[in-house]
Order: sequence, then C-alpha cells, then structure tokens
Amino acid sequence: MKKPEIAIVGGGPAGLSAALSAVRQGAQVMLIDRDPVLGGQLVKQTHMFFGSKKQYAAIRGIDIPQKLLAALQEEGNGKFDPRVNTTVLGCYDDGVLLLEKEDRAELIQPRKIIIATGAAEKMLPFPGNDLPGVYGAGAVQTLMNVYGIKPGTRVLMIGAGNIGLIVSYQLLQAGVEVTAIIEGAPKIGGYLVHATKVRRAGIPILTSHTIKKAYGCDSVEGAVLCNLDEKWCAVPGTEQSLAVDVICLAVGLTPQTELLWQAGCEQQYLPELGGYVPLRSEKMQTSLSHLFVAGDAACIEEAGSAMVEGKIAGLFAAADLGYAENVEALNETFSRELEELRSGPAGAKIRQGLSRLKGGAQVC
Ligand SMILES: Cc1cc2nc3c(=O)[nH]c(=O)nc-3n(C[C@H](O)[C@H](O)[C@H](O)COP(=O)(O)OP(=O)(O)OC[C@H]3O[C@@H](n4cnc5c(N)ncnc54)[C@H](O)[C@@H]3O)c2cc1C
Repeated sequence: MKKPEIAIVGGGPAGLSAALSAVRQGAQVMLIDRDPVLGGQLVKQTHMFFGSKKQYAAIRGIDIPQKLLAALQEEGNGKFDPRVNTTVLGCYDDGVLLLEKEDRAELIQPRKIIIATGAAEKMLPFPGNDLPGVYGAGAVQTLMNVYGIKPGTRVLMIGAGNIGLIVSYQLLQAGVEVTAIIEGAPKIGGYLVHATKVRRAGIPILTSHTIKKAYGCDSVEGAVLCNLDEKWCAVPGTEQSLAVDVICLAVGLTPQTELLWQAGCEQQYLPELGGYVPLRSEKMQTSLSHLFVAGDAACIEEAGSAMVEGKIAGLFAAADLGYAENVEALNETFSRELEELRSGPAGAKIRQGLSRLKGGAQVC
C-alpha cells in the first residue's frame, strides 16, 4: 500500500490550494480527482470572479486552476503527485482510502487526509421532474462551457441566487432563450449586479413564484408556474403555462460529505451552511484527527473562502507531520483573509452558521 504523507480528495479550488499550502511547507502530497482535469467547479466558470483580489477576483474562474497548478509545478519539488480520472470510493476509520481508476482498485494509507469534495446540487420535487430536459445548473454549465453543447432552445430557470443568475446569462451568451427566472422567495437571493445584468438583457425575474409541474411526452415541452403567498403556499388561480424545452434547477447546493460519514466524522445539521457539515476546529481538522476538510464540503460558500480554507487545512495537515515552520504567522494571515471574505451583509448567513457549529478535533 502506498503511504503518501497527505492525500487530498478533490482538485477544485479548495484541494488545489490545500496542496500548494502543504507542499510549500515541505510535505509530500497526492491530489486525487475523479474528473479528467483539475479545477473542480472552476473549469466551467467563464465569468470574471467576484470576491477578493487576494483570491483572484476579476479573473475568469476557468483561468484560476492554471495559476494554482503552475505554482504547484514550480514549487512542488517532486512532492506533488496529481491523480486524475480517479475516484475515491472509500474512506475508512483506519485512515485507508479506496481509489478506483479505469475499473482498477487501489488502497492507499495516507498519514493525513484532506476532504475537499465540493457540493452536490439540490433537487426540487414536482410532477414531471424526471422528464429529459430537467437539468441541474451544474449540468447545463458543463454542457455549454466544457463541451460546447446547447442544452436546448428555451429555458425556464428556477432559482434567482447567484448560480441561477449567472447560468442564465451564460445561456444567453450561448444563444439560448431564457424565458424567465422564477424564485420562491419574495426577494432575489443573488447579487444585484448579476440580477441587473440579466434584467437588462430582457429576462424577467418572477419572485414569489414556483413550478407546479413539468409536462411533455418524451421530454419537457413546458412548465406550469404559480404564485406563492407569504407562507410559501400556492395561490389558487394564478397558474400559467410556459412553453420551454429545458427546466434548469438552481435551487441550492449541499456539502458532499459521504466520505466523511463513512469514516465516522461527527457532523451537524446547519441549514445556513448547506445541510450536514463536519464538525471541525479552526485548523479545519474534523473530529478524527487524521482527517481535515475544506471548501464546499465543509460549508457552501464561494471559491475565495474554499481556497483560504484549503490553505489552512494544508498548513495544519503538514504541521501535524512536523513541517511546522512559520505556522502561526501564516495562519494569522489566512484567518484574516477568511474574516474579510465573511465580513459584511453577504457573509451574515455563514457567520451565523459558523457561530452555531461545534468544534472538531481540538475542541471535542
Ligand atoms: C455558476 C456558479 C458561479 C460561481 N461563481 C463564483 C464566483 O464568481 N466567485 C466565487 O468565489 N465562487 C463562485 N462559485 C462557487 C465556487 O465555484 C465553489 O464555491 C467552489 O468551486 C468550491 O470549491 P471546492 O474545491 O470546495 O469544490 P469543487 O470546485 O466542487 O471541487 C470538488 C472536486 O472534488 C472532486 N470529487 C468529488 N468527490 C470525489 C471523489 N469521491 N473522488 C475524487 N474526486 C472527487 C470533484 O470532481 C471536483 O473536482 C460559483 C459556483 C457556480 C456553480
């Protein structure tokens, strides 16, 4: 069994940043991702990123992984071992990981593990939601921005958070008509800058609206919408039909924590952070001392905070192995960056969720 010093599961912004942070400290890192290219969600983000300049704001998401990978190649000194097309199927309580690549299985026993597996999209229950033509926003983005395939011709977007707004704009850029964006809440959840952009392009955003059903014979041919009252109940008589061939769901994400459950990490249900999240200390160490976590797997946030959490997890996983140079100063810098990212009204929900989160290995 191979015994890398640190194995990182997930090569998105959190995993790449964790790898860079750990190799900079001198640790040897294996980075594992099931996708053919590293970058996670970023490989389909064609828009300029919002957030802080320190975390590549104003740079297109698709360009960020190249920057992190270039730094890893330059500073890795032979200690960086990336594995793509490789899925981690098992994470056991004795610290063993089960890897699968091209139908071959391999067991490894890293000394430390960082779980940076990102998030899964939430589904909405409504009649007809299993018809071909009902997609998650991530799938629509992957089709368009990774493979250059239009998902359809007329789209109904469900959800006016940042993802719904950004993907609607990207659909327009791809030449697809977006008939409407509907949102159950009485207010738009995403940033005003994105909402203004799509409205200026002629897409109506209908708040306090939901989908009642999708209809179609072999695939989606339309959707029935209705208004919602202040208790989120359908208002009778407000039904309207829209002819669309794609219904795109952008109704939230939930942390992908299956490997952490399997290993036996303690988790807590915190809706503000996206659902069940692992307990962890400020070092991003979970209730199992060999397991660290970072990014959307720890809390649904943004790439900026995912990168900083990755840097913290990489720093402390390496420190636990004895690579402890300059740890306090670096941690102070990273913690300040996280605080800045979570300050202001946009970070209020995350701050509230984190204030209710119990500690991980250091506290339990
Ligand atoms: C439309 C859209 C727009 C966005 N815009 C912005 C923005 O402007 N600014 C911003 O800061 N953020 C933005 N975000 C959010 C940002 O993309 C995410 O917060 C960020 O990618 C999370 O990083 P991560 O590394 O935790 O997870 P991910 O990027 O999801 O990476 C997780 C990786 O783990 C891999 N993986 C999962 N399970 C396994 C397994 N079992 N074995 C092997 N590999 C596995 C996956 O293949 C993936 O590569 C946007 C998101 C979307 C969807």
